[in-house]
Amino acid sequence: MCKSPEYICTILPPHILTKMTESNRHRERALRTIALTERARGRRSILGTMLGSVPTGTLRRTIYDAQTSERLPGTFVRGEGDAETSDVAVTEAYKYSGNTYDFYKQILGRNSVDNNGLRLDSTVHYSQQYDNAFWDGRQMIYGDGDGELFNRFTLDLDVIGHELTHGVTQNTAGLEYAGQSGALNESMSDVFGTMVKQWVLGQSVDQADWLIGAGLFTTAVTGVALRSMKDPGSAYNDSQIGKDPQPKNMANYLDTTEDNGGVHINSGIPNYAFYLAATSIGGNAWEKTGKIWYETLTKRLSPKSDFQSAADGTVSAAGDLFGQNSNEQKAVIDSWTRVGIRPASAPSIKTVGASR
Ligand SMILES: [Zn+2]
Repeated sequence: MCKSPEYICTILPPHILTKMTESNRHRERALRTIALTERARGRRSILGTMLGSVPTGTLRRTIYDAQTSERLPGTFVRGEGDAETSDVAVTEAYKYSGNTYDFYKQILGRNSVDNNGLRLDSTVHYSQQYDNAFWDGRQMIYGDGDGELFNRFTLDLDVIGHELTHGVTQNTAGLEYAGQSGALNESMSDVFGTMVKQWVLGQSVDQADWLIGAGLFTTAVTGVALRSMKDPGSAYNDSQIGKDPQPKNMANYLDTTEDNGGVHINSGIPNYAFYLAATSIGGNAWEKTGKIWYETLTKRLSPKSDFQSAADGTVSAAGDLFGQNSNEQKAVIDSWTRVGIRPASAPSIKTVGASR
């Protein structure tokens, strides 16, 4: 769920599926996943934004089972407060969407992705050997993975936090899903996705793994996760899915027309800035650094904001939250400078962009 209705924010970056089409063994499956995602994109355009999404004012999760078909939403299997079933994908989709809701509510004071109690619907067992998960503008959809390269896509809490954060971004900054604003959109999803996981696990910045999608790969893949926030570009290097292409400095920014202008690639740069700020500020990421980023996402960015706007916005937010020239603000300035973006000089930074 990004800015424009034709975009579907899938967790698997397109370059991985493209690489898989080069192999006889994986080509057919990869092409099917790509085609099904295209179909979902068409459905998304027809649905329009948020159609059918009924605010409930509180947490309400509903899990459906597509039973390996492509029919959506599928058969109802578990509603809010219902007992756990024996299906692990149902359990994970239910539990992790609840964790994400709780994180936003308890830590950031936000009531679901729209701040109005939007219900959280999920469909598991979508299609056969489907290698992806996405939010289609009204619900989450999870494939079971092919079992050969990818495990089931409900496995990671940070993946579910990532996808639901796309909903938060649309309802706040509305970052357009292309170029730098698109890479910022992706980065915000990684930032809050990893924080949901760290919060649930009670991990400080030093204890966290800073990985997105750890566990999604089977043992047949040489890699640890889809992305690494602590060392972008190092998450995987494998003959079947390629090498992690993420840069972590503006010097290596990738100008490309693929992937909506590299939204899943250049997001490594703001991801690394967040990691550097969080580890420099220390403690739990959600207590200070996360609040600076949330304040920026919800009040200081707008659809066309770029990396510079994000740098200036976070410096400004850090000043408002923790004081001008505070250690927190200095850490934020230093983190962006280290990824090759120089924030406008603090402390006299004006609010960037209009709040939405
Ligand atoms: Zn995404």
